[in-house]
Amino acid sequence: MRTAFSCSADAERLSPFLMLDYAGPADFPPADRQRGVGAHPHKGFETVTIVYQGEVEHRDSTGAGGLIGPGDVQWMTAAGGIVHEEKHSEAFTRAGGTLEMAQLWVNLPAADKHAPARYQTLLDREIPRVSLDDRGSIARIIAGSLEQQQGPARTFSAMMVLDVDLAAGADLVLPVPDGFQALIVPLSGQLDINGERSPEAAGVCMLSAAGTGIQLASQHRVRLLVLAGEPLNEPVAAHGPFVMNTTAEIREAIADFRAGRFGEL
Ligand code: MN
Repeated sequence: MRTAFSCSADAERLSPFLMLDYAGPADFPPADRQRGVGAHPHKGFETVTIVYQGEVEHRDSTGAGGLIGPGDVQWMTAAGGIVHEEKHSEAFTRAGGTLEMAQLWVNLPAADKHAPARYQTLLDREIPRVSLDDRGSIARIIAGSLEQQQGPARTFSAMMVLDVDLAAGADLVLPVPDGFQALIVPLSGQLDINGERSPEAAGVCMLSAAGTGIQLASQHRVRLLVLAGEPLNEPVAAHGPFVMNTTAEIREAIADFRAGRFGEL
């Protein structure tokens, strides 16, 4: 597991995004006991899990749950408070195999941090694919819109989350709405972004988009995430699984969780 970025680094330039963990391809032998993270809380933001290989299972205190496999995404809104667990699926645990996934944390506007928790499963087949050039470069639109196609995720602020597979020899311009900030995160390989060499896999390049788009070019096939959105311009107080606007709200979130107000599995 590698953290590509976290809001402790540069909260304003990352907004509305908070953190991205990338678990590169890793092989797991067959096992009896499911690996993963047991019951834990979140409040004030959303977790977005993108599976590339393997299968993970989710259960939460809203009663939602499910399995997601290659290409699927779960968009979980913790908002006012949730307890969940995240594990390798039973079938994947028994069979073993390669797991590759990313988890993105998306901040919520202050006005929505107390909204009811909810859960969206976005299956691979529901995620539109847009051709970016005639070499085979493809963007999967998880959230936001590109070339009149709309991604399935319901979001609280304006953003675009794209899962991009750039073909060898690609040289194209990705349109990004005016006023958005953009993060480019290569997952495999390196590319040139606006003429500059990107960081290596799971590094991050931060751009303030000015409506001219972002030039992406590569000699080799590169997989990357494009995370772009309207900055929230609100203070960020982050403490472990809680992301609020003030430290007083963090104390309140901890007290609410301890009092059982986030529900249980
Ligand atoms: Mn979690």
